[in-house]
Amino acid sequence: MLAYTYIYPGKFELIGKPKPEIQNSRDAIVRITLGSICTSDLHIKHGSVPRAVPGITVGHEMVGVVEKVGAEVRNVKAGDRVTVNVETFCGECFFCQNGFVNNCTDPNGGWALGCRIDGGQAEYVRVPYADQGLNRIPDSVSDEQALFVGDVLATGFWAARISEIKPDDTVLIIGAGPTGICTLLCVMLKQPKHIIVCEKSPERVRFVREHYPSVEVVAPEDCIATVRQKCERGGADVVLEVAGAKDTFRLAWECARPNAIVTIVALYDKPQMLPLPDMYGKNLTFKTGGVDGCDCAEILSLIEAGKIDTTPLITHHYKLADIAEAYHLFEHKLDGVIKVAIVP
Ligand SMILES: [Zn+2]
Ligand SMILES: [Zn+2]
Repeated sequence: MLAYTYIYPGKFELIGKPKPEIQNSRDAIVRITLGSICTSDLHIKHGSVPRAVPGITVGHEMVGVVEKVGAEVRNVKAGDRVTVNVETFCGECFFCQNGFVNNCTDPNGGWALGCRIDGGQAEYVRVPYADQGLNRIPDSVSDEQALFVGDVLATGFWAARISEIKPDDTVLIIGAGPTGICTLLCVMLKQPKHIIVCEKSPERVRFVREHYPSVEVVAPEDCIATVRQKCERGGADVVLEVAGAKDTFRLAWECARPNAIVTIVALYDKPQMLPLPDMYGKNLTFKTGGVDGCDCAEILSLIEAGKIDTTPLITHHYKLADIAEAYHLFEHKLDGVIKVAIVP
């Protein structure tokens, strides 16, 4: 089969590999019907994910059809259409039992697919702990509607869940890339009084204004002034930092009112400063990423009920054979791309 493979830092290549086999009785083999590219794939490509193993097939956003299951798999069977979770988790350890699946103590716990074990920019993928890692897609939900359930949408859902949003709140979301928009969609489900999105790219500003007209959009340079003017409590009640740019961590806590919750969803390339003297007395609560992706069944039912729709995010389609071109477009943010769909 064809598999887009991490050769060495700076180089991915589409090569031929044998079809994966069941290795453990809790595994499933999934035939991929649609995949995507995530910014984390670019982090691997650029060598900024030290635990990524050269030789692995990359990709951790995909949906497909179960081809085969191991003897102990109970929740899915051959022929089921499924979403694949970016995270591998056993369901049994202390962290899994408490919903902190990103910190599952299994050797492959957390983000393994397309990083430490073969992922899904390929024709087939082996999914360990299939009962945890796969969720059945309802018949009325298309592959495109379900494509982001296991990764970016799970991240947005988790971020909104942990941010303790109340009806009277003003929520500021910094960054309107794919994860920022997924976060916005999930924050909207909480129906806070007011939502402000801070974004620099004119194309993304246009996208948010076109699709979510009730949301206020500001440029980073106007963000603090707007938030102070709109929020009678001196800042946003909840801030979600999804941009991960040079100054956005500082912007996040500066825009927060005293006693606010600041949720850090972004993955930074560099350490960030926490200047405690400057924020003394502001009494902020910080919550930090990565995603505990254990809400996929709930997300799928919200999609089925028409409450979440991420299909406008799919701006481009490519065949797996042309995936290098799709990476070029996604990496350089060409042609207004938000997300690409890859068809094996
Ligand atoms: Zn990802
Ligand atoms: Zn576990």
